[in-house]
Amino acid sequence: MDPMDVILFPFRLLAGLMRFLAVLIGIGKWGVKTAKFTKAAVTRELRCKRGCPPQPADGIWSCSTCGATREGWVWSHCPSCKTAPAYVDCQSCGVSILNPKV
Ligand SMILES: [Zn+2]
Ligand SMILES: [Zn+2]
Repeated sequence: MDPMDVILFPFRLLAGLMRFLAVLIGIGKWGVKTAKFTKAAVTRELRCKRGCPPQPADGIWSCSTCGATREGWVWSHCPSCKTAPAYVDCQSCGVSILNPKV
């Protein structure tokens, strides 16, 4: 064995290990990103800007336009006036949560 190889061996090993770690970190980051995306798509919760506990985005709501009571996803169109709700009131503090799509 070339003595140079013996000297460089631990460095090469370290470099290989670093590369391996970088790949692992990359996979980890990707996993977290994917998990966050999936969570946001699945949980569908309503968040008040004042930091109140998150509320389920499915339930019974009063239409902000015509006052009709409807059931289902918070931002679904009203069956009575056919408009998307502009806001709903936070169930904890009563402050309006605006529809992010309007
Ligand atoms: Zn309505
Ligand atoms: Zn609130």
